[in-house]
Amino acid sequence: MAEQRYIWCRECDKLHHVTRFDGAPAYVMEGGEERELSRDDGRAFLERHAGHPLETLRENGEKCFPVGAAGDPMRVGYVEATDGRESFVIRSFRRTIAEPLEFELIRGRLKPYRVAVAIQEARLRKEMKQRLRSVASERAAAEKTNLFIELLNDLVGDLNPDAIKVVGYDYADASLEYGWLEPPMVDVLMRRLSVHFSAAELDAVRGFIDAHREPDDVLALLLKRNYAIERAGA
Ligand SMILES: [Zn+2]
Repeated sequence: MAEQRYIWCRECDKLHHVTRFDGAPAYVMEGGEERELSRDDGRAFLERHAGHPLETLRENGEKCFPVGAAGDPMRVGYVEATDGRESFVIRSFRRTIAEPLEFELIRGRLKPYRVAVAIQEARLRKEMKQRLRSVASERAAAEKTNLFIELLNDLVGDLNPDAIKVVGYDYADASLEYGWLEPPMVDVLMRRLSVHFSAAELDAVRGFIDAHREPDDVLALLLKRNYAIERAGA
């Protein structure tokens, strides 16, 4: 990913996001015709703030998008950036879907804390049911799958999120990490399941678990980090 940079006018407290489109013409459709816009945002910003003290801010990697999926034009984002001395949080947002992205500078930093641990429930449910169908009736497979999900959720709900070993990152969502479901937990789960499952069903579950222990596989725990904005001097 290209390094993200911003130009900050200290006098007006305005930000310009430096993009690879700066200087390139943009095209819009108007009445069925393509029209060229000379939308040289970068140059316009520099002209508007000529003679003002300008600084370059660079993102340092911490970012969060509390609402909205990747690609949602209306989602609000917070990224941490620095001029090499001070730390800032840049808030990006749109007033309406037709308007360009705006940026607001907040002096402070993004402070991560982990709040939620979850299993990959929808995927697990689907794949476990499929596995159990090979040894049980349709109805039993559905019931046992529900039980498996319920018991696993109970176990995971008791975990301290900070004690979970991180085994991977989600590249589309910077606030999401993958955690390891450790072998002792699998043993506890199997013991609890053994009260309700037949030997063949237990074998199927064990086979499923053994086949999906890779860090980024369906048994990986989801660790959703949240951020608080810690304002400087507050
Ligand atoms: Zn200015």
